[in-house]
Amino acid sequence: LEQFDVMRVRKDFPILTRTVNGKPLVYLDNGATTQKPQQVIDAIVNYYTQMNSNVHRGVHHLSQLATDAFEVTRHKLQPFIHAAHEHEIILTKGTTESINLVANCYGKAFVHAGDEIIISAMEHHSNIVPWQIMCEERGALLKVVPINDAGELDMDAYRSMLSDRTRLVAMTYVSNALGTINPVNEIIALAHAAGAPVLLDAAQAVQHLTIDVQALDVDFLAFSGHKMYGPTGVGVLYGKEKWLNAMPPYQSGGEMIKEVTFAKTTYNELPFKFEAGTPNIEAGICLAHAIDYLMDIGLDNIARYEHELLDYATQRLLRIPGLRIIGTAKEKSSVVSFLLEGAHPYDVGVILDKLGIAVRTGHHCTQPLMDRYGIPGTVRASIALYNTREDIDALVAGVERAASMLI
Ligand code: PMP
Repeated sequence: LEQFDVMRVRKDFPILTRTVNGKPLVYLDNGATTQKPQQVIDAIVNYYTQMNSNVHRGVHHLSQLATDAFEVTRHKLQPFIHAAHEHEIILTKGTTESINLVANCYGKAFVHAGDEIIISAMEHHSNIVPWQIMCEERGALLKVVPINDAGELDMDAYRSMLSDRTRLVAMTYVSNALGTINPVNEIIALAHAAGAPVLLDAAQAVQHLTIDVQALDVDFLAFSGHKMYGPTGVGVLYGKEKWLNAMPPYQSGGEMIKEVTFAKTTYNELPFKFEAGTPNIEAGICLAHAIDYLMDIGLDNIARYEHELLDYATQRLLRIPGLRIIGTAKEKSSVVSFLLEGAHPYDVGVILDKLGIAVRTGHHCTQPLMDRYGIPGTVRASIALYNTREDIDALVAGVERAASMLI
């Protein structure tokens, strides 16, 4: 792969040179959060040493510097996801808040008793619970599209669930627990044909795949900064202008207002209508540096490289006797979830940790999905752009070691 020099990429991530339990760190928990490149770390230090002040308020120099830098992020997010307008990008604290915002505000404006919301069996809790609560409040019904054993959506079932009662479809783009890439174009086209808008949870997509919200014609898109090499505490809600304008504000307070009197308050324009209070300024500003980082390398290059690593990991892991991969969809991205017959995922995780290998074990905030498979959880290795074949080799050796100890 000429376009992609992983050893050069690794030099950008200082944490990758440290040891854990006396072994070189092998970080394969990227689905939980990614490590940060020096460029992002430097930007954080630069923010606090050169421009710390509040945004969108002061006339003074530092406040203008911080405001401009904060708005640079929005400016960079627009081409990053190919949004039509910068004001369609709301900065939130993460995917969870982005989804809660839509559940609350879209719910208040558009969802009534007897309406239906459609999600899928592979959703993260943060794309389940907000809809459950909203449906309960508004007397609406939550419908769940089932999956097959490979971890692919049952599209026939989805088709049959759509109707003129469907008020919104909320689905994950890429499953955090299985790695399945859902057929989002078809999901969106079918929903639109039934008159329903679509929210995509792109928390596990935006760091792996090129996303074009206009080509997708998606209505809402949610993702987190910390899973795309940026800081924690900042995330994005993209929404089509027509929906955002038709929705009431989320939280209320400073920033989201135009004029306040005790008699009546008028709301600010987009995007500020949905950004009440002082945001996470540092994270907001520094997310721009993560976007630059991803754009410089190119998401297509990243996708190609990671896919090759995923194939390598899958093939090597499958050679281990008793190892079963959960999630064998044809279209997958950057996640291998597996079980070792006769061993609890947690015990496997503990042994891997002793070897300096970071994976996630458990239900991955997808308990209904684990119930669907009748398992308590899995061991999940999730790949990022700085992982190598050597990382995968270390994982495989570690799992073999765990097997010899536990089974
Ligand atoms: N959706 C998916 C698919 C995720 O993987 C995650 C994070 N594990 C979330 C939503 C929630 O993201 P956050 O915790 O950053 O709000």
